[in-house]
Amino acid sequence: MIKFLDLYKINNRFRKETDKRIRHVLDSGWYILGEQNKIFEKHFAKFCDVKHCIGCANGLDALNLIIRGYGFGKGDEIIVPANTYIATILAISQNGCTPVLVEPDINTYNINPNLIEHKITKKTKAIMVVHLYGQAVQMNKIWKIAKKYKLKIIEDCAQAHGAIYNNKRTGNLGDAGGFSFYPGKNLGCFGDGGCVTTNDDALAKKIRAIANYGSDYKYHNIYKGINSRLDEIQAGILDVKLKYLDKDNEKRRKIAQYYRENIQNSKIVLPKTYNEKSHVWHVFVIRCKQRDKLNEYLNKNNIQIVIHYPIAPHKQIAYKEYNNLSFPITEMIHNEVISLPISPTMTKKEIKRIVEAVNNFKG
Ligand SMILES: *Cc1c(COP(=O)(O)O)cnc(C)c1O
Repeated sequence: MIKFLDLYKINNRFRKETDKRIRHVLDSGWYILGEQNKIFEKHFAKFCDVKHCIGCANGLDALNLIIRGYGFGKGDEIIVPANTYIATILAISQNGCTPVLVEPDINTYNINPNLIEHKITKKTKAIMVVHLYGQAVQMNKIWKIAKKYKLKIIEDCAQAHGAIYNNKRTGNLGDAGGFSFYPGKNLGCFGDGGCVTTNDDALAKKIRAIANYGSDYKYHNIYKGINSRLDEIQAGILDVKLKYLDKDNEKRRKIAQYYRENIQNSKIVLPKTYNEKSHVWHVFVIRCKQRDKLNEYLNKNNIQIVIHYPIAPHKQIAYKEYNNLSFPITEMIHNEVISLPISPTMTKKEIKRIVEAVNNFKG
């Protein structure tokens, strides 16, 4: 069986360094908000070329903290792609804001910048972009719209650590970015983790406080905050793995290129990219009208796949109030997508076998 993602293999490459770092934390006797957080935050801020990085418990919290940090709440609208992982939309709902869904561009699967402006009302406060599947959103038009209507741009960077648009990394393409370090992400820890990146001093200060019970210094509480912190062991592991992120993303690009040059099957639609550096291939998503048949076929051929995602957020039971809305492009994508294995530790043999299998799919 070719695994979709062999996390043991991925992480075992750094075993010596991560073991040492974990031991260091254990021996320090200091487990939360300490030296490792400071070091990782500094290094990740530098990697994204932003002034601030604030560690937190997970990616959903990161987005949540940004919205809370800006003080958006009931009655406020936030524009968000209909084609995303549900966490993006949950972060908006959790703050009492209204998610206003926008269809994607069928070429990039990211939010279609041409469909944003007519969704803006007096209540609109922000545009939340998602660099989906690892490809940075083409921001130019969105920057102009945000400026014209004085809207904040919030980035969901959970799938696109290191992706570049206009010489800037994700996390530095808007007013604030939320990252997830869930184990399966391009930069993942050994549990849950996340962070916020921003150049906004006031926002950074506020988010740091909210994430720590609303406390600006110990036992002095200025917000009704939450507990969302990145623990020291995870920060240390991330600091080790960050050094290898660009190299690993480059390996993903090579595999994606091989797939795109060698998969030839009229039943399959391959993903497109407008610029090599813009994409870090968190997942390699192909489309097929006979998705379920292809799924079954690949399983039979001992190739493990994942579907990102089978049900659109507006069709989920959790969003009953949205179930009657129609987003035909989003729905088509959810009906047709399959993600092939792509990871920095795959062997040439595995990659070739996957290409062969996909090419031999007769439908
Ligand atoms: C993974 C993911 C999240 C949530 O991150 P968690 O760390 O699991 O909370 C949010 N948005 C997108 C697009 C994701 O892929």
